[in-house]
Amino acid sequence: MNFKERDRKHLWHPLTQHKLHPDHLPIVKAKGVWLYDENGQRYIDGISSWYTCMYGHSHPKIISRVKEQLDVLDQVVFSGFTHPPAIELSEKLIPLLPPGMEKLFFSDNGSTSVDVAIKMSLQYYFNKGNSRKRIVAFDNAFHGDTFGAMSVSGLSVYNGPFENFLLTVDRLNVPDKTNIETVMKSFRAMLDSNEVAAFIYEPLVQGAAAMHMYSPDHLEILIKMAKEAGVLTIADEVMTGFGKTGKNFASEYMTSQPDIICLSKSLTAGVAPMALTCCSQKVYNAFFDDEISKGFFHGHTYSANPLACTAAIAGLDLLCSHEIQTAIKTIHQRHLEFERYIKNHDKVKQTRVTGVILAMDLDVEMDRYGTLRDRLYAFFMEQGVFLRPLGNTIYTLPPFVISNSELERIYEVMEKSLEII
Ligand SMILES: *Cc1c(COP(=O)(O)O)cnc(C)c1O
Repeated sequence: MNFKERDRKHLWHPLTQHKLHPDHLPIVKAKGVWLYDENGQRYIDGISSWYTCMYGHSHPKIISRVKEQLDVLDQVVFSGFTHPPAIELSEKLIPLLPPGMEKLFFSDNGSTSVDVAIKMSLQYYFNKGNSRKRIVAFDNAFHGDTFGAMSVSGLSVYNGPFENFLLTVDRLNVPDKTNIETVMKSFRAMLDSNEVAAFIYEPLVQGAAAMHMYSPDHLEILIKMAKEAGVLTIADEVMTGFGKTGKNFASEYMTSQPDIICLSKSLTAGVAPMALTCCSQKVYNAFFDDEISKGFFHGHTYSANPLACTAAIAGLDLLCSHEIQTAIKTIHQRHLEFERYIKNHDKVKQTRVTGVILAMDLDVEMDRYGTLRDRLYAFFMEQGVFLRPLGNTIYTLPPFVISNSELERIYEVMEKSLEII
């Protein structure tokens, strides 16, 4: 039996209707921006394996440090114990984070980092004897697939079976020039209820909503309103964190800073699953008490795994390097050039760029997972480029280490794909 057949026997893949999509391409190796399949075909990883491997796959500087760590300390319980990789990570990351972040809470993935943020917010008010039950989140938000994260996510087409079991969430339209007044008005009404514990948002770019981009000025207004109403603000930077928007964190585009920031995806440079919920001293202080029950009794077995922490430290060193900071600017400039070139194509409805993220909407009607999407996906793979269209949006979020010619290849294939629609 080959890999595909063996896969079909026992494996259940994420986000998949197996009856319609039985086959999964076996990838046996990855290096730099390239993914290699079992037949030796290679594909440019045009979306950095869901925004994780931003320094390329198996970066030698990351791999060597993780291997070293593996010989020293592989895993240890993080309640009652601590260890150098976690400490070093905190000392490296806190100065890079937007001002006000003081404490780091570990978990395993983006969804759990959001669940932790929500639990922190709810218990923050509970501990203060002023219970608040509601969360405000954007329409079309995506914050993950666990119950808390799913509750605040707005892309609910697939949440049908769970709708009766979700948290109480008020939905806010994502602001733009035309609706900002209305959005402020509805937000004001929500805040005036004095029932809102937290406002959660993906700053600047809503990844799963087909890389929808919105203005930092509008977001700033909403963050300020929340803060004035004493509502905790949660920036879900699971996708936007670590340089993707052109700054290390998207929150840096605003002057008002969140109380809580969620991080995962490229936190460990794509080497291991790990997440952080970072918070301000103010949040932490609400839990710091003589009473044991005011503590935050949430924990995951692999919290702060030393190997994952080591990968994160090595990733941060790369992020801060001159080479990567320059690469981020270069990719951004080249995206803008390509955008200028492609935006008037008659099959292109709209284009947008933030940092290293480039998206274009096709001028066709189709379902989110319709057949055109599958045809486009197949076309990209045939051309040796891994891109995953979201509905009628084609986008790329390439690894920072991509070369000029590899990036050119992505643009070329994007342009060519317009001929098959
Ligand atoms: C991917 C993502 C999540 C969920 O992270 P997982 O690791 O897949 O659970 C949450 N929020 C945002 C903004 C994301 O992009």
